[in-house]
Amino acid sequence: MTEETQTSKILTHNFVTVPRKAPEGPLNIVGLTRSSLRKALIESGTPEKQANMRVGQIWQWIYEKGERDFSNMTNLAKPYRMALQENFVISVPQIISKNISQDGTRKYLLRIDGEHEVETVYIPEENRGTLCISSQVGCTLTCSFCHTGTQRLVRNLTSSEIVGQILVARDDLGEWPTQGIPKTEPRLLSNVVLMGMGEPLYNFDNVRDAMKIAMDPEGIALSRRRITLSTSGVVPEIAKTAEEIGCQLAISFHATTDEIRDKLVPINKKWNISNLLETLKNYPKVSNSERITFEYVMLKNINDSDEDARRLVKLIKGIPAKINLIPFNEWPGSPFERSDWKQIESFAEIIYRAGYASPIRTPRGEDIMAACGQLKSATEKERKSKRTSVPVDLNG
Ligand code: SAH
Ligand code: SF4
Repeated sequence: MTEETQTSKILTHNFVTVPRKAPEGPLNIVGLTRSSLRKALIESGTPEKQANMRVGQIWQWIYEKGERDFSNMTNLAKPYRMALQENFVISVPQIISKNISQDGTRKYLLRIDGEHEVETVYIPEENRGTLCISSQVGCTLTCSFCHTGTQRLVRNLTSSEIVGQILVARDDLGEWPTQGIPKTEPRLLSNVVLMGMGEPLYNFDNVRDAMKIAMDPEGIALSRRRITLSTSGVVPEIAKTAEEIGCQLAISFHATTDEIRDKLVPINKKWNISNLLETLKNYPKVSNSERITFEYVMLKNINDSDEDARRLVKLIKGIPAKINLIPFNEWPGSPFERSDWKQIESFAEIIYRAGYASPIRTPRGEDIMAACGQLKSATEKERKSKRTSVPVDLNG
């Protein structure tokens, strides 16, 4: 008798057809879409007729209650729980360090499979809390003002590792019903932004699957309006973002001429400003006219003149937009300086007068290197990275 059939025999019980042990070992449930989990449950012995209900029950335990142990899933029959335990695991990234900023921002360094590391940042705000999550270890793109961009791409995160970031942040915040904190409204973790390490649209399928779980009422149940995906401008994937994910969109715009954008956001050489804007002009049709956020990092004497502000207003004409001005966050060896405050305000004023909201983003967690664009895996920091900060020649 093989080990497989032995397992089946021991666990067979009434209506529970018992799972066969997967040859490649237990499967992690975290990050599986509804249909993948359904398929995996059926393959491991769950009767087809029950599969949808089981998916819902298991999801509620994992994503609503924060449960990690099948044996505590008390609305499932005991033998079924044991069968789940045989075939599946509930595994999330491990927090290896946590830094808390003076302003309450928390930066987590997480270990994922393959001894890799990613950073996730929680930013508490009045009446809400935003989790900034990563989609890749490193990044293939090399935006000259971004710390992550100095770390070459190591690998894409799996959907499990992307959703897992939300689960571990909730663990740390003590926000699960079983952790005793009274349920607060709004939630401590009420918003998610894909603005950590990596380019989410270069890892589209995993990001989509993870965000579907984040939005599902039986999953993490965040409204799609509370999830924002930021892209440097991967034009062919932008329409798909509205169609297949349906979250809010932010574009890392950062310059008003191709000459400067080529140098700041090199993906511009592939899809330039006019390609990008063309796609964005069509975007509202698929996304019910929601506003697109244009992110604009303020770099002293590079992209921050009044003339830039006026040009920006002209470029985005016809696109329902909001412009988020991000004072540049420095990192060791960064080749730029933050714009003067007066100039940031002048830039904001021009945009505001043209009829667009133009909030200036307050840098958060700077003292722990957790602000936008400062993230990088610790181990990678220690290694000599392939591209250290080379001063960018914006004249040539
Ligand atoms: N790769 C995606 C998402 C991650 S970057 C993207 O580029 O959109 C998240 C945001 O932080 C982007 O708008 C990025 O341009 C901005 N950013 C990167 N480095 C920064 C820095 N040093 N200071 C301020 N913002 C920065
Ligand atoms: Fe990658 Fe975004 Fe940083 Fe550019 S700004 S290097 S796309 S993470």
